[in-house]
Amino acid sequence: LDPTASNFSQEELDIERALRPITFDDFTGQAQVLENLKVFVQAANLRGEALDHTLFHGPPGLGKTTLAHILANELGVGIKVTSGPVLDKPGDLAGLLTNLDERDVLFIDEIHRLSPIVEEYLYSAMEDYKIDIMIETGPNARTVQINLSPFTLIGATTRSGLLTAPMRARFGIQSRLEYYDTELLSTIVERSAEILKVPISQEAAIEIAGRSRGTPRICNALLRRVRDFAQIKGNGNIDLKISQFGLKALNVDAHGLDEMDNKILTTIIDKFKGGPVGITTLATAVSESAETIEEVYEPFLIQQGFIMRTPRGREVTELAYKHLGRIKGGVQGG
Ligand code: ADP
Repeated sequence: LDPTASNFSQEELDIERALRPITFDDFTGQAQVLENLKVFVQAANLRGEALDHTLFHGPPGLGKTTLAHILANELGVGIKVTSGPVLDKPGDLAGLLTNLDERDVLFIDEIHRLSPIVEEYLYSAMEDYKIDIMIETGPNARTVQINLSPFTLIGATTRSGLLTAPMRARFGIQSRLEYYDTELLSTIVERSAEILKVPISQEAAIEIAGRSRGTPRICNALLRRVRDFAQIKGNGNIDLKISQFGLKALNVDAHGLDEMDNKILTTIIDKFKGGPVGITTLATAVSESAETIEEVYEPFLIQQGFIMRTPRGREVTELAYKHLGRIKGGVQGG
């Protein structure tokens, strides 16, 4: 259930695809972002132009890839999908770019992980729809300039802070995705249950939603696991009781905090007396990169009121002590 994990099985990926919204109307939440995108798409369609290059940033599993597909769909164009770490040679990028039709979308996931050479190459493609290609080698080597069809680059990143300034400046549209509240997530759970053809009660949908770390990908994953429990240990319907049973068996925290979330909180309490502690020190203590903590874990912990950011570092709140069953001052509670 780790939202950052990349080792999903093929079956999981297929189901995830089936649950993916395909139009603006299917997409729940992110109201402000969506409202703006609708205007930009409508305007681009009206003018018959490519949509401006678009950057989505925010924690994993909130819908960046989904929105890229929705945009292509609403623009009525094709989409090619790749990711920063995969595109390691300018030649690979050139191949993709030269195969784009007019107004097509090129989606680059994890765009902060592009190599500097590929990134450099992308600049002229984004700006002038032109690339220089090196043909032949040795004494005959020369570059030729190729004109590209006007296209839209959509980039997704969990770490906008790691994007270079020139790269960022080339995106005319930039949207930050936020965590979803329980109500929105329960709508998503109900929609997904309908697609999976499993009956679910409203209370059960809310229960699953409330433990999903504000993340659609997690609520869908939990729904699928609870569906298993309902089929094997229940009567096939997901009600409050079977969802609570399933979530307990899955060791899902009451707030949906994952292992790293809990590790961060307990570390601040046990090793740093509740804080404040600097981000680098904390990162070393939990063996995770400071960037990942700042961009993946901390935003949710802050949003849920477990951590405070102070000028001297991160501090856990009363709520965190309560959640972990600890008493401030270091005495172990119940
Ligand atoms: P990201 O690219 O930000 O990591 P994805 O777009 O891959 O996230 O979303 C993960 C899954 O969560 C998708 O398969 C989709 O089913 C679901 N999802 C994301 N956002 C929404 C949403 N707003 N409404 C419904 N389902 C969503």
